[in-house]
Amino acid sequence: MKQSDFDVIVVGGGHAGVEAAHAAHRIGARTALVTLNFEGIGAMSCNPAIGGLGKGHLVREVDAMDGVMGRAADCAGIQFRLLNRRKGPAVQGPRAQADRSLYRRTVQEAVENAGNVALLFGEAVDLILESGRITGVELASGERIASRSVVLTAGTFLRGVIHIGENHRSGGRWGDPPSVRLADRIADLGLPLGRLKTGTPPRLDGRSIDWDAVEMQPGDDVPELFSFMSEGVSARQVSCGITRTNSRTHDIIASNLARSAMYGGRIDGVGPRYCPSIEDKVVRFEEKPSHQVFLEPEGLDTHTVYPNGISTSLPEDVQEAYVRTITGLERAKILQPGYAIEYDYVDPRALAASLELKEVPGLYFAGQINGTTGYEEAAGQGLVAGINAALAAKGREPYFFSRTESYIGVMIDDLITCGVNEPYRMFTSRAEYRLSLRADNADQRLTPAGEEIGCVSRARAEAFSAKANALADGKAQLSANEYTPKMLRDAGLSVREDGKKRTPFELLAFPDVTYDDLIPLDANLGNLPRMVRDQLAKDALYANYIRRQDDQVDAVRRDEAVPIPPDFSFSGLPGLSNELQDKLARIQPRSLAQAARIEGMTPAALTLVLATLKQLDRKKSA
Ligand code: FAD
Repeated sequence: MKQSDFDVIVVGGGHAGVEAAHAAHRIGARTALVTLNFEGIGAMSCNPAIGGLGKGHLVREVDAMDGVMGRAADCAGIQFRLLNRRKGPAVQGPRAQADRSLYRRTVQEAVENAGNVALLFGEAVDLILESGRITGVELASGERIASRSVVLTAGTFLRGVIHIGENHRSGGRWGDPPSVRLADRIADLGLPLGRLKTGTPPRLDGRSIDWDAVEMQPGDDVPELFSFMSEGVSARQVSCGITRTNSRTHDIIASNLARSAMYGGRIDGVGPRYCPSIEDKVVRFEEKPSHQVFLEPEGLDTHTVYPNGISTSLPEDVQEAYVRTITGLERAKILQPGYAIEYDYVDPRALAASLELKEVPGLYFAGQINGTTGYEEAAGQGLVAGINAALAAKGREPYFFSRTESYIGVMIDDLITCGVNEPYRMFTSRAEYRLSLRADNADQRLTPAGEEIGCVSRARAEAFSAKANALADGKAQLSANEYTPKMLRDAGLSVREDGKKRTPFELLAFPDVTYDDLIPLDANLGNLPRMVRDQLAKDALYANYIRRQDDQVDAVRRDEAVPIPPDFSFSGLPGLSNELQDKLARIQPRSLAQAARIEGMTPAALTLVLATLKQLDRKKSA
C-alpha cells in the first residue's frame, strides 16, 4: 500500500458524502470520493424536494458553512414555498421542489470542480486498520487506498433489501446493488448495528394524469432561496397538483394489508413515524375519510410525477388498483412501483460529537448510516464529518457544533446522546433555542466559525462581511434615538402609556409595528436597504426572548467547555445508580453538557461527576 494517498477518503456519493468530500476539499485536504458510480452522485433516492420545516434550517446552515446543498437546490428549484409563512420566522421552513436530474448535475459539477477531490468509482468492501487506527479502504477490485481519515456515508445500502408486496430482493435503492461486504466488515468491528426501513411511492406518468380534475398549487410569488449567495431562481417554475385518497382507496388498501411487505410481517426494521406509508395512514388514522396527495413533477424535461403521500410496500397490482381510485389518477400509468427498503444502521451513540467513531480513531460516519432519514439530515452530518476528518488529517483540533448555535448541533447531540429508535428526522421542536436558531440568521450564527475553520470561500467571506457591516450600521441607526410614548403617538404609533422611552429597534419587537411605521420618526431609516430592514425586523422580534434565554445558553456553553476524558470511569462513583453508571459507561459522554442530557441524569449526579473531574484535575496538576 502506498503511504497516505489521501488525507480523507469519503465512501458514498449521496448527500452526506458530497458534503463531506466538499467540506474536506474546502479545508484543503487531499480528498477521494469513492462511490459506486458517477450517475449516483447527488441522486435523490426518494422525493425530488429539498428543505421543509426544520430541514430548511439544516440546508441554510450547511450553506452558511459554504456547503453544496443550498446552491444546488436554488439552481434546480422548480417550485419554492416558504412553509409556515403565517407563523413567526423561527418556525418557517424554506422548501423547494427540484428538477431531479438538474439537481444531480449541479451537485456532480460541484464535486468535479472541487480541485482537491479525486473521484474513484467502485465498491468499498474493507476498512484497513493499523494498530486500531484507520489507514485506508479496500475496493472490490482489490485496490487499496491509503488515507489519514475515512468517512463512511453508505446511506440505505448496508445489507439493503427492497420489498414490494410478497417479493423482496437485495438492493441499496431502486437500480443499485446493496453493500454487503462493507456491512459485514462494520459488524466485524463489533459496532452496534440495527435495522431500519423506509418507503417510497410509485412514480406516475404525468401524461396519464387528468390535471384538469385536480387542484393546482403554484409556488410563492417571491421565492425564498436557500443559499445566502444565490441571487434568483434560474429554472422555469411549475405548479404541483393536489388530490386526495377516498373511501374506495382505503378499502382496497385495508383489504390487502396482509400482502403489504410492512404489514405482512416480512420487514423487521423500524420505519419513520413521521413519514408514514399509505398503509400506515389507513390503519393508524382509520377515522380520516381521505388523505392529501401532492402530484409533484420530477423535472422540466420528464413526464415522471412523484405522488407525495402514498408511499407503499403493497404489491404492484394493488398499487395500480388504489392509485386509480384517486381523482385525476383514474387512468394513471405507473412507471416505477413503490417499494420499501430495509437496511443496517450503526447506533450513533458509538460516535463522538465530531462523528468520529470513539473506538476507531480516524473513522467517521455520516448520513442515513447513522439512523437518520432525509437528504438534509445527511448533508448536515456530512458537513460535520468532512470538516472533522479534514481537520484531524491535518493535525488540527476538531470543531464541535453546539446545540446552542445550530440545528446541526442539536441533531448531532441528539444522535450521539440518545441514539435512535426510529429514523431520526429534524423538527423545529427538537431545538430548545429555536428563537435564536432561525433559518434567516444561519449565516450570522455559523459563517464566522466557517471562516475560522477555513471552509468558507473568499467570495462568501467578503459577501458576509459586507452584510454583517450593513446589519451593524442598520442596528446602530435603529438604536441611536429613544422616543417617549407621546413622541410615538405624535408620529402615529400607538404604544402603551407606560412612560418608557423606546428605540425604533425595540419598537420592532411589537407585533403590530412594521418597519415602515418607524420612518416618520426618522426619515433616515427609510434609506436602509430592504435586506437590512427585513433582517433587523426578524432579529428585533425575538430580541427580548433571546436575552432571557442567554443565561441558559451560557450555562450550557460552560458545561460544554468541561471535557470528560474518554477513559473516565463512571463505574463505582458513589451516589450514581447502577443503571445510570451503565448508561454513562455505554454512551461515554465527552462533555458535562452531553452527560446532562442523558435520560435519567439528575443535578446531583451531574455535580458528582463534576466534583470527580475536578478531583482528577487537581491530582494531575499536583
Ligand atoms: P444515500 O443518498 O443513500 O447515498 C449513499 C451513497 O453511498 C450512494 O452514492 C451509494 O452509491 C454509495 N455507496 C453505498 N455503499 C457503498 C460502498 N460500499 N462503496 C462505495 N459507495 C457506496 N428520506 C426522507 O426524508 N423521507 C422519505 O420519505 C424517504 N424515503 C426514502 C425511500 C427510499 C426507498 C429510499 C431509498 C430513501 C428514502 N429516504 C427518505 C432517504 C433519503 O434518500 C436518504 O435519507 C438520503 O439519501 C441519505 O443520504 P446519504 O448520503 O446518507 O445516503
